[in-house]
This record gives sequence, C-alpha cells and structure tokens, in this order.
Amino acid sequence: MGRVETRGLRKEFGGVTAVDGVDLAIEDGELLVLLGPSGCGKTTLMRMIAGLEAPTAGEIYIAGQLVDPDVPPRARGVAMVFQSYALYPHKSAFANIAFPLQARRTPAAAIAPRVQEAARMFGIGGLLDRRPRQLSGGERQRVALARAVVRDPEVFLLDEPLSNLDAKLRATARDELKQFQRQIGTTTIYVTHDQVEAMGLGDRIAVMNAGKVRQVGTPQEVYDDPADTFVATFLGSPPMNLVPWDDETLLGFRPEHFLPAGVANGQVAGAGNGDALRLSLRVRRIEYLGADRLLYGVLEEWGNRAEPPRVIARLPISVAADVREGEAYPFAVPKRALRFFDRA
Ligand code: ATP
Repeated sequence: MGRVETRGLRKEFGGVTAVDGVDLAIEDGELLVLLGPSGCGKTTLMRMIAGLEAPTAGEIYIAGQLVDPDVPPRARGVAMVFQSYALYPHKSAFANIAFPLQARRTPAAAIAPRVQEAARMFGIGGLLDRRPRQLSGGERQRVALARAVVRDPEVFLLDEPLSNLDAKLRATARDELKQFQRQIGTTTIYVTHDQVEAMGLGDRIAVMNAGKVRQVGTPQEVYDDPADTFVATFLGSPPMNLVPWDDETLLGFRPEHFLPAGVANGQVAGAGNGDALRLSLRVRRIEYLGADRLLYGVLEEWGNRAEPPRVIARLPISVAADVREGEAYPFAVPKRALRFFDRA
C-alpha cells in the first residue's frame, strides 16, 4: 500500500522558505503531478519524501507509517528518477539497472531475470550491453526508469524525467509512462513545470506557488474551476482572461469561451437568450496558430474605465477566417464559463 501523506511539511534554507506548510495525500496507485513555476518548491518537497532532505517541520507518512527523518532513502520503499537520470557512465545499461539489486545483496542468480524483465517492460532488452553515452536521451530515460522499477518500490518519485527529450519523443514517452504506471499501479509523484505534461499525465494535479499548494484536483477541476487567480493564469495557453468586475472582484473567462454573438444566441447548448455575457472586442492583433487564431484586443464599453481591459480570444479558423485587425466584433461568453475571483 503506497499511500503517501504529508502534514504541515516545511523546509527552510537559511532565510528562504522553500516549502511552506504542505498537507498533501497521494492515494495508493495514484499518479499525482506537482506542477508549478521554477523555484516554487516542487523538488524540495520530493527530496524530503525521498529522504534526501530533512524537513524543518512537519510529518511524512509512507504506506501508513510515520517516517522518521533519519530513515535513509533506500529504507523508505521509494525510487526516485531525476531529470539527469543519474546513470553511472562507466557501467553498462545492464549494470546500471542491476545496481539497486546488488546494493541490496540480492543473490546473483536472481538479478539477471529481474533486470531482463524490467528492460523488456521498457523495450530496451537489446541495449543492455551499451553504456549511457551510446544511448539516446529517450533510451537513457528508459534505463533510469527500469532501474527504478527493478527495486519494486511502493512509491515512484519522478522529477521532470522527460525534460531532456525533444518535443516529439516527449509526447510518446509521456504516453508510455502513463500506460506503464496504470499497468503496474505503483503510487507515483511526478514533478513538472509543464502544464501540458501535467494535464496529460495526472490523475490529479497539485498546483504549487511560493512553497504552498494552491489547489489539488483532477486536470479538469483545476482547469475549469481554478481556486484563485494564480491557478487560473498558470493553467491554459493563453491563460484565463481576468478583467475588473467591481472593486473587490475580478471576472475570469478562458480565451476559448468567446463565442460569436450570433452563435451564443440560443444555438449553443445551455446558452439561451440572456444566458451569456455580451462583449465587444476590438481586435488589435491576430496570431495564426494553424487550426486556431488568437485575437489580441481590448473590451470596449467595459464600465467607464480610462484603460479598456486587454483580453485574448482563441477561435477556430472556421469562425475567425474573416476577422480583421482594427475592427470590433460582438461576442458572448456563456454564463457557465464565467468565474469570479476575490481581488485580495
Ligand atoms: P525548478 O522547477 O526550477 O526545479 P522547484 O520548484 O523544484 O524549481 P526547488 O528546487 O524546490 O524549486 O527550490 C525552492 C526554493 O528553495 C528556491 O527558492 C531555491 O532557490 C531554494 N533552494 C532549494 N534548494 C536549496 C538549497 N540547498 N539551499 C538554499 N536554497 C535552496
């Protein structure tokens, strides 16, 4: 049972608070993604769970047991894969994968079959004689994962394991990793600052900022119902539009929720007459993204403000084909797509 829980977990380095009181529960078999900008404390949180860093305060439970800060990494039932893979350069792929078993004094006869099984799982059975520098980035990553799997851990801790791969390989590797994790059902914590990766991989996502977890939820929950303006603007590309509503409140809506006024008027499910916010968007610039176009513009007649709020609309080409820079167009945003945030 690989449930992991942290309670009030905190880490200070001198004057810097890297992790600021994190309460998080990762269920047995779940893949939880820690997502957040550079420096928000993701790696530090993982290193504390792994036993590579001692917490300043708080508690860590692995498989129901309170883990004493003195318990070394290898005794925690966790396997960590780093961004750099941390393979031994002078050892073959076989020896790299076998290493954790040798370190645990597994009998030699039992080692080879387990290495081969892990290698087969990741499709690197034919590469076991090679050293890391004779392998591609993707192959090295698989050796690192095989080395983690061979220990049969209760928990995987993966810190940006795909960040060294090019975009194409990354998408394939992500898909493989997800399938593999579902298949073996090992509890996994996965660190990334890439929201696409987080949305694609996570059963749930914990969004972090400045040492704190701002929201935990399924990809759809954090995208559709962000808890605050940080989450709202960290997820989504381009991010959610935020415009003044009244003194205390900001109104948020996503760029893909701009509907041409005629369309929103009854033809869109759930958005009948009056069931939408009417807007006039003056388009300043158009960006071509292939299937979609981004319209950068301002909202006209939005209260009586000196500065009209800037927004971005994302429209499929079928709708945006005739839109021109400099013109104003009526749009509607369905009420169910509107979100309100406390400015404070
Ligand atoms: P990235 O995505 O860039 O890897 P991260 O979210 O993993 O970032 P951490 O590496 O956990 O962030 O760092 C969190 C904060 O703690 C940062 O401000 C960092 O500078 C600081 N920090 C991390 N490790 C140490 C250390 N050993 N000594 C001092 N400060 C540290």
